Amino acid sequence: MTAAPDRAPLAQCLFCRIVAGDQPASVVRSTPTVLAFRDIAPAGPTHVLVVPRAHVTDASVVGSADGPLLAEMLEVARLVAEEDGVAERGYRLVFNVGDDAGNSVPHLHLHVIGGRPMAWPPG
Ligand code: AMP
Repeated sequence: MTAAPDRAPLAQCLFCRIVAGDQPASVVRSTPTVLAFRDIAPAGPTHVLVVPRAHVTDASVVGSADGPLLAEMLEVARLVAEEDGVAERGYRLVFNVGDDAGNSVPHLHLHVIGGRPMAWPPG
């Protein structure tokens, strides 16, 4: 089991502020553990970010103790895709880690992108 690091909310973290309700966001789903809201610069007709309420920096610090959190993030992603009507045709789930991947917000988030065909590999 991986010991969870300190995951208290950070005042300077954009997604912690959204979770706290201090920064506006278009919230589509909320559970005691995660929040899902629409990306401000959507990469497709559906583009939702699923984030833990706790401050987790990125996927590189996620360990086996986070299994329930990850399962909930994936379940919320599926529900969002179903509610947006993109589940049947398919959707993409992405965790960006680090500069080469284009990670810009240092708070774990699962991109849920759908509603259009997508190329592979990503640019
Ligand atoms: P990443 O590049 O993986 O770190 O993704 C960060 C995402 O957060 C980008 O797709 C941004 O468009 C999105 N984003 C940045 N600021 C906001 C905001 N205030 N509300 C919603 N999404 C945001």
